[in-house]
Amino acid sequence: MQKRLEIEAKDFLEYAYRKAVLRLKDYTYFKKDKLTFLDNNNETMKIPGYVARSRKNYRFNHKTQKLEKKCIQCEKYFEVELYKEGKFADIHDEDQIHFCSEISGYAVRCKKCNHEKELEDSEKLKREKDLSSKGGYSFNIKISDQNIKYIRMLAAVESVTEEDFANNCLDVIRKNNKLEYKYDKKLE
Ligand SMILES: [Zn+2]
Repeated sequence: MQKRLEIEAKDFLEYAYRKAVLRLKDYTYFKKDKLTFLDNNNETMKIPGYVARSRKNYRFNHKTQKLEKKCIQCEKYFEVELYKEGKFADIHDEDQIHFCSEISGYAVRCKKCNHEKELEDSEKLKREKDLSSKGGYSFNIKISDQNIKYIRMLAAVESVTEEDFANNCLDVIRKNNKLEYKYDKKLE
């Protein structure tokens, strides 16, 4: 423990010293005209190709000497590479963010956000499929406040979607046609 604290204190002093001497910021962010960072010896170092290609989503942490990748969804940063003596070494956690390839680098979304997006996409696909298998149409109509309250409340009570509930209401009206004109006959 003592030893670890000493190392941490030494690292911190070194970092504070470098920061003062080199006027280092805590992080280096990359731009089209800035695809380098300063290493511990004040040397300008190049970033890997995949970082340059997706530069807005990476930053270099000078304190930890680690390259961090930002998830475009939750905007959290994940440590992916450790810089040491002119080289980057992979330290990423595959449970947090997926490494795609040397060309494309790390996934745009973290594992958690990617999973949520996949679920959302498959639900959306399922809804669209259900609708098309029912032979339905999607169209926008204005519904009165009272009716929308009724649909929402009863759909929740009956544990069906609002869309199914609204369709069920229309089915009931259609099948028990009490309207003056027998529209049903016209339809069949
Ligand atoms: Zn995320």
